[in-house]
Amino acid sequence: MARYRESVCRLCRREGTKLFLKGDRCYSDKCAVERRPYPPGVHGTRRIKHSDYGIQLREKQKARRIYGVMESQFRNYFKVADSQKGVTGENLLILLERRLDSTFYRLGFALSRADARQVIKHGHVLVNGRKVDIPSYLLRPGDAVQIREKSRNSVRIQEAMVSAERKSVPAWLDLEVKQFKGVFKNYPTREEIALPVQEQLIVELYSK
Ligand code: SF4
Repeated sequence: MARYRESVCRLCRREGTKLFLKGDRCYSDKCAVERRPYPPGVHGTRRIKHSDYGIQLREKQKARRIYGVMESQFRNYFKVADSQKGVTGENLLILLERRLDSTFYRLGFALSRADARQVIKHGHVLVNGRKVDIPSYLLRPGDAVQIREKSRNSVRIQEAMVSAERKSVPAWLDLEVKQFKGVFKNYPTREEIALPVQEQLIVELYSK
């Protein structure tokens, strides 16, 4: 299946909530959800009553789109989460947060997860001192994520760092701004992952 290449703001409008896919624009009054708070398309303003399945599907799509993960990969995460001890829905979100691109974005080194993916793929990122160019790389407690020295002056990274000063770093990460480095301290708890997702609905969808 091909990667989605249309306007990402349509995805937010489809889910009826901000998914923060476009960096600074998401915090401005140019945000499409603010300006057109209804689904895209000619029937966007029509009222639609969703079935239980429809509600579960939308919740899964929302989570998948926030993290920028394809359907097959998302289902694989679910299988792993389901095989782990604990609550499957929470395990799923923790797995997604362990991704290198998500952590890189959460540390404020990129304006969006899509940006983070591109920076990682271009080889600008080190994990524990070694180059890792796989956005889906899963971090473990204690892993250090750092921007390569010669990449630190890139406009893209500098812009992200300026923007990051306005945001806070989540509790499970440690940021050392001067070293362009962050540490994945521990696995996050569900309470720490501030996301508008009802993961239980995703579990119900995949358990059918
Ligand atoms: Fe979503 Fe950001 Fe576009 Fe707003 S600006 S619709 S939050 S991607």
